[in-house]
Amino acid sequence: AEFRISDFEKLRVLGHGNGGTVYKVRHRRTAAVYALKVVHTDAALRCQVYREVDILRRVAESNHVVRFHAVVPTPSGDVALLLEHMDGGSLDALLRRRPFPEPAVAAIARQALLGLAELHSRNIVHRDIKPANLLINAAGEVKIADFGVGKVLRRSLDPCDSYVGTCAYMSPERFDPESHGGDYDPYAADVWSLGLAVLELHRGHFPLLPEGARPDWATLMVAICFGEAARAVTERAASGEFRGFIECCLQKESGKRWSVAELLGHPFVAGADGVESERALRDLLREDSDES
Ligand code: ATP
Ligand code: MG
Repeated sequence: AEFRISDFEKLRVLGHGNGGTVYKVRHRRTAAVYALKVVHTDAALRCQVYREVDILRRVAESNHVVRFHAVVPTPSGDVALLLEHMDGGSLDALLRRRPFPEPAVAAIARQALLGLAELHSRNIVHRDIKPANLLINAAGEVKIADFGVGKVLRRSLDPCDSYVGTCAYMSPERFDPESHGGDYDPYAADVWSLGLAVLELHRGHFPLLPEGARPDWATLMVAICFGEAARAVTERAASGEFRGFIECCLQKESGKRWSVAELLGHPFVAGADGVESERALRDLLREDSDES
């Protein structure tokens, strides 16, 4: 079906990003609720938006990637993406309230890995994995969002050519691709970002800097390239499995990092899909709604 912007009623703002605003909207006729990501574009940005659309179309059937329904034209020429509404919001908003207990972290890590597996198997790297781009719904489903900087890999393209993504979650080799002479592996870079995001859920703040610190480029670069990222896990009580998992993700040498497929077999996440996991995820949301 073709959608028009006048078919929708704006309910509220769900979030802001670099290029635009995400609204919760209701389709007037069917009363179905969606998220509408409106990106204020110029010609250059429009390219990026259509790349996101292209990627979302290619992963339309994925269970762990936010569902994409349509592009909705707007009078102003902005591009609006009609997306599945994730009613639990983003994990960065949730974790600001308190660190997550390990069973919830494990269940989230497992679902995010399933999402990454779906992407990687289609030769798509995300390049911007972080808590703000992991969304959750009331059913306890965790899905990957925001392909604004996702990129379809083509063999002919130098994967280092476009310098995008969020610096804080960038792997050491993305800061310094030269020293890795052509060995840059963008799939392994997604694994690093995922490891850091998962660690952040457990710590309750960005794990490589003191809580509340305002990172600048140089501080981040030093923390990521010269610090021992995996050691940050020891600052809060954690199981051996969790430590092991984080170590597998946060290997500084990309070649030593586990792949998504290998990580899905790691004991930390392998069993994290039972009743207990579902309860842990629902508890995150329940406490959240009690407080607000
Ligand atoms: P970019 O990182 O490329 O600038 P962005 O950050 O502007 O993109 P998103 O990450 O897609 O765009 O959305 C921004 C925020 O809006 C998210 O962090 C989340 O809080 C909220 N949001 C986005 N999509 C949805 C959705 N489908 N359901 C609920 N909330 C959403
Ligand atoms: Mg985002």
